[in-house]
Amino acid sequence: MRKRISVVPPWKNANFIGGHPALDLANTISNRKQSTVDNDLLRSVSDISSWCQSAGLISSPQARALIRYGSEELVDTVHHVRSHIWDVFDTVSDGGAPSSRAMGGLLRLAGLGVSAEIIAFSDAQMKTLTGNLAEPETIPPALALLALEALFTLPKDRVRACPGCGCLFVDTSRGGRRRWCSMRTCGNKEKAARHRHNNHMDPQDIRHDVAFRHMRLPGS
Ligand SMILES: [Zn+2]
Repeated sequence: MRKRISVVPPWKNANFIGGHPALDLANTISNRKQSTVDNDLLRSVSDISSWCQSAGLISSPQARALIRYGSEELVDTVHHVRSHIWDVFDTVSDGGAPSSRAMGGLLRLAGLGVSAEIIAFSDAQMKTLTGNLAEPETIPPALALLALEALFTLPKDRVRACPGCGCLFVDTSRGGRRRWCSMRTCGNKEKAARHRHNNHMDPQDIRHDVAFRHMRLPGS
């Protein structure tokens, strides 16, 4: 299952703006541009369990079982998967080829799960995962498999990294010009910074700046 039904605490809808669970997982480091103590939103088995439930990967009973049987090893392995996902998609958002290390890590982990027959896609569209997702060892290969599905199916020219916080998302806007993870957070911060900058400018510079912004290039 992969359809998000409802986000459970401590998660909010704002944590699921990536357009794909793999990107949402990468975004559980809330700000890649600043390292702060509470930057990592995925610090415990309970966080992983509630995240997987919110992302529509597991049901509520599976989430409870995961909390019961999960250990620090699960947290460490999910962090590894997340780090590979971020590495791959941050590079893709910049127009580069994914690194062998990160992509190899995802392929290896997904391959282990598929070969052991603990995880599989159950439909030709590869949208639904089956496996006992209440088992902690099934979660990392399932996440790696989802990341590979994202890599091979998302439109690469629409994968973006927010310049404010590094958050990854798929730009589904019509013109393909979405820049920020959210206008309410990073977009507004940038607007406020620009406003402050303009207020501190010499009035003559502001006139220049305005004239420049209204200038049309020949043929445009
Ligand atoms: Zn942002």
